[in-house]
Amino acid sequence: MKIIKFGGTSVGMPHRMHQVAKIINTTPGKKIVVLSALSGTTNALVEIGKYLTNHQPKEAIFIVDTLEDHYNAFVTDLLKKEQTIGLARQTITSHFSFIRGLADGSFSEQLNKELLAQGELISTRLFYIYLQEIKTDAKLIPALDFMVIDVDKEPIIPQIKENWQVLVRGVQSDTMITQGFICRNHLGEIDNLKRGGSDYSASLIGAAIGSDEIQIWTDIDGMHNNDPRVVKNTFPIEALSFDEAAELAYFGAKILHPSSIWPAQKFNVPVRLKNTMMPDAKGTLITAEELDKGIKAIAAKEGITAIKIKSSRMLLAHGFLRRIFEIFEKYKTSIDMITTSEVAVSVTIDDQTYLDQIKQELDALGFVEVDSDMTIVCIVGSFVSEKKGVINKVINALKEIPIRMISYGGSRHNISVLIPSSYKNEALQLLNDGLFAELRANVDHQEPVN
Ligand code: ASP
Ligand code: MG
Repeated sequence: MKIIKFGGTSVGMPHRMHQVAKIINTTPGKKIVVLSALSGTTNALVEIGKYLTNHQPKEAIFIVDTLEDHYNAFVTDLLKKEQTIGLARQTITSHFSFIRGLADGSFSEQLNKELLAQGELISTRLFYIYLQEIKTDAKLIPALDFMVIDVDKEPIIPQIKENWQVLVRGVQSDTMITQGFICRNHLGEIDNLKRGGSDYSASLIGAAIGSDEIQIWTDIDGMHNNDPRVVKNTFPIEALSFDEAAELAYFGAKILHPSSIWPAQKFNVPVRLKNTMMPDAKGTLITAEELDKGIKAIAAKEGITAIKIKSSRMLLAHGFLRRIFEIFEKYKTSIDMITTSEVAVSVTIDDQTYLDQIKQELDALGFVEVDSDMTIVCIVGSFVSEKKGVINKVINALKEIPIRMISYGGSRHNISVLIPSSYKNEALQLLNDGLFAELRANVDHQEPVN
């Protein structure tokens, strides 16, 4: 059984949805197809939710109308037959009358979650109707009937497995379709796995049912060695280990949701990244194996704040770091990078929600300095300490860039460098030119992305 997940851009246009059906029909064996909402839909739903929260129903309804028009135009190009067009129109009308109804009553956080769920509910239903039209046998399995999270919003894999098995008992179709992103929480209410969570859904299903591969189809031909949107001469990486992929996804490679690695890794299910628009391109295969050594890729995470705590009391004292960490723990704020000297420690965070409170409490421990608008540039690969020269290459490539922090040796897979965000694009290009010239020569047969 394969899990095949398609993102918003892969289903965001009628001809792309046709392409998705082709990919499914040429994939042999049983498969579970996980779909995102059509691109732009979840953003629009978030906006509608904001207006409703702010008691601006007119503004909300304006977006609802625009979105509904978009869907009505979409089905005219998606479908040909009167009967299936009729079914699709009914689907659209029923979901949009639910959404409109939200503008009449009092809105709540719970209703907002139900609102956000509409995107995936509509996309899967429309796709299912299209498969009916082209006579592809398929079964729609509602994610809300099996995807569950606990009180800490963590997925309950054994429960997901059990629910799934009950639902698919006796199902004959080779193709099962379900929604990404949406789930039920510990109260049985509609919830979600956070923005971009459809990848996570696919990985959780793959882990729960012990699938032989999780495919994530997007609009790029695999994970690239660097950000193709801002860097020239990037290329797709053929193979990555779970550890490397996790670092890259966490540190900014937009192609894969960071949470989606651990279920696949824990249950040892390979993840393959593929391009819906270029289905023959190799893409990237992520497995437990570490096939090549050396530098694999670079990613960057913006919006980082660096906090330095300087105290002469740290000198020869123990327990100082613990006291610092306890403050971050109290505010549930996780630290990404850390560097220490004998009298000071610098850490980075990406969630500024409690920055003021954290700073206030840190003030009691020493002199605190905050630098905002920073970027972590993360160089990922398999670095064995006997292999010399990796760090030299990095530093050399970045010699014109002001570096605020460096972290090396925390794992064998990551060198992180903190720089002001204004230097991000330049740093990524310099690293690309400095670190990948030789590698690129080997993959010159592959077309660069830009
Ligand atoms: N539709 C959701 C979002 O845009 C989930 C996803 O696409 O992965 O965040
Ligand atoms: Mg996505």
